[in-house]
Amino acid sequence: MSERSDEVAARLADVRRRIASACVAAGRDPGEVTLVAVTKFFPASDVRILADLGVTDVGENRHQEAEAKAAECADLGLTWHFIGGLQSNKAAAVATYADVVESVDRAKLVTGLQRGAHERSHTVDVLLQVSLDPPDAGAARSGADPADLDALAGAVQAADRLRLRGLMAVAPLGEDPATAFDRLAVVRRRFLHDHPGADLLSAGMSGDLDDAIRVGATHVRVGSAVLGSRPPVK
Ligand SMILES: *Cc1c(COP(=O)(O)O)cnc(C)c1O
Repeated sequence: MSERSDEVAARLADVRRRIASACVAAGRDPGEVTLVAVTKFFPASDVRILADLGVTDVGENRHQEAEAKAAECADLGLTWHFIGGLQSNKAAAVATYADVVESVDRAKLVTGLQRGAHERSHTVDVLLQVSLDPPDAGAARSGADPADLDALAGAVQAADRLRLRGLMAVAPLGEDPATAFDRLAVVRRRFLHDHPGADLLSAGMSGDLDDAIRVGATHVRVGSAVLGSRPPVK
């Protein structure tokens, strides 16, 4: 084992312990929560280390980096989650390698995603990213307005290569994530009423995965707690 794999193994064990104790505290089965290891800015060699350690799901947020890493690691049989802001002109390309696109926040993305999924003859799982920002956050907000989720869900359901699986959210900066995730739980309850099969919830990162598990997250997206602090953006 290399020094790097020892380090990642220790961090991963810590994160798994955190997930397990958050589940115990919430009265949930730890088997209900999937760890998505966020590998952005880290090399493909780290993805291999994670796969060796039993990680099955990885997340990336930038198209070019994700595309290259997914190709380099194609032999590992991992489930690739695209979790970043998505430009319409990149949607088709992302859908050729991503198994799950978590950041679908507007209907304009659907045509491209459907085309890319069709090109690779596979089905892409879709999570709708819902904004937890205050309504006055303006252009800075990422994610769909909760009021727009039903229309967005309809657009995804009309695309036969896309499968509506649930919701994704990021806790806004400058607010206690527990408070933001309480709002998310309300949004999700309403959403599930109309879309009972779309029951996945991706929420929680290194700093707030415990709060997310408390409100029912089925997927936590954890980067720095597993791999260490990211190198600064180039
Ligand atoms: C980078 C990123 C994460 C992981 O963040 P950490 O704080 O490093 O765990 C989770 N979700 C999204 C959308 C991200 O871009």
